[in-house]
Amino acid sequence: MTITPEREAELLASVPTGLLIDGEWRDASDGGTFDVHDPATGKVLATLASATSEDALAALDAADAAQGQWALTPARERSNILRRAFDLINERAEDFALLMTLEMGKPLAEARGEVTYGNEFLRWFSEEAVRDYGRYLTTPEGKNKILVQNKPVGPCLLITPWNFPLAMATRKVGPAIAAGCTMVLKPAKLTPLTSQLFAATLLEAGLPAGVLNVVSGKSASSISGPVMADPRLRKVSFTGSTPVGKRLLKDAADNVLRTSMELGGNAPFLVFDDADLDKAVEGAMAAKMRNMGEACTAANRFLVQDTVAEEFTRKFAEAMSSLTPGRGTEEASTVGPLIDSGARDDVHALVSDAVAAGAVAVTGGEPLAGDGYFYAPTVLGGVPNDAEILREEIFGPVAPVTTFSTEEEAIALANASEYGLASYLFTSDYARMFRVAEQIEFGMVGFNAGVISNAAAPFGGVKQSGLGREGGSEGIAEYSTVQYIGIADP
Ligand code: NAD
Repeated sequence: MTITPEREAELLASVPTGLLIDGEWRDASDGGTFDVHDPATGKVLATLASATSEDALAALDAADAAQGQWALTPARERSNILRRAFDLINERAEDFALLMTLEMGKPLAEARGEVTYGNEFLRWFSEEAVRDYGRYLTTPEGKNKILVQNKPVGPCLLITPWNFPLAMATRKVGPAIAAGCTMVLKPAKLTPLTSQLFAATLLEAGLPAGVLNVVSGKSASSISGPVMADPRLRKVSFTGSTPVGKRLLKDAADNVLRTSMELGGNAPFLVFDDADLDKAVEGAMAAKMRNMGEACTAANRFLVQDTVAEEFTRKFAEAMSSLTPGRGTEEASTVGPLIDSGARDDVHALVSDAVAAGAVAVTGGEPLAGDGYFYAPTVLGGVPNDAEILREEIFGPVAPVTTFSTEEEAIALANASEYGLASYLFTSDYARMFRVAEQIEFGMVGFNAGVISNAAAPFGGVKQSGLGREGGSEGIAEYSTVQYIGIADP
């Protein structure tokens, strides 16, 4: 289907531009606004209200006022709201996909994939909401009873990044609704439009006023700062970079807030000589190129056994060079632009540094000329193990390949990072899969799989990749606290 300028304009006009506070879309208290751009053209897509500290606190007032009643709302009712929102998003899947493509740049096919993936968190947590078990037991001494029940943590601040505008929001909002928490959501200023449409859809699905408040704005810290300093807030859930996560953890300490931190990654992609190399290349393309490499799970270091490194690199480079960069709204495009010029400069600086250190660009290696922030899909061969590009999150369509000779060496290289989010392992040997998984210091392992995200699985990392899990049965626990009642025998 061709996306016409009229279709884009009509969709953009349907997106609320205000702050969502206590069920109403409002202007900012100082009348301030900010623009949202299309990274494929640099043009302005929409102008939104920019929240002040005062607005952020008004959002917390609304969340706090709604918390008591929301906690008492039957789980079945909360579950039904999530399920209705899931159905509405499915009906509007094309709108959500196009909106993400416009503000974030990813090709439409990928944006559609994100709608399916992101929406699953609403369905999953609509099912989890009614299976929130407690326990009742006799004390070990045989006298008296213990009753344990889950309760919502209380008002939460949810801060999301720009790279997966729908999924990063549903992964937090879904379990918060299921657990009975109220929320202040602060989307990334580069891609706030999807959250605006998502919030409007939740209201339509019956979410009561004040349960979800959305405050986008130019200055992240002037929104999060006063909210986190307010004792009515009980939790912060953040997805974004490790440096910002560290700062928020320090701020959270003052109020002893519960925290969930989904931070950066530096995923190793291990290819052993017994792997099916064609499947490994297919997995590498998915693990590297999903979202143009702008993913925390993106394969960042390709560690390939020396005996197959040449063949793997050649096949991988062929696949990368057959991609078609272009605006995501064009069906032929298989790679979108990077989010902004700074992101593209950062990627190129890492490539230039690696090449200066002796790496060879087998394909790509340069920004692409023309409008938007496009970077050529790149494979770098012969990357020295101490190159900066192997330490930093690349966040772009660049694949550095390096080699190992033994399993022990592969594990040591994979673990040589302060990050521990996603990892990938390609081998036909199941015993090796278990051995490596046991020793690898990563929260997630893709075994012969280049994509590992699923609403039913606990997503998250170890080391500096964060704290807590999103999805699975673990996801709802992040928004629950336990209360124990000690009952004296009659
Ligand atoms: P970022 O840390 O710059 O921003 C994330 C969010 O934090 C945005 O909403 C931003 O406005 C806000 N923010 C920035 N500075 C802040 C401050 N001082 N106080 C309060 N809020 C602040 O990250 P990004 O560039 O939007 O996203 C990319 C990063 O996110 C990468 O490091 C990526 O690995 C990570 N990420 C992690 C996961 C995960 O699940 N682990 C998922 C997606 C992205």
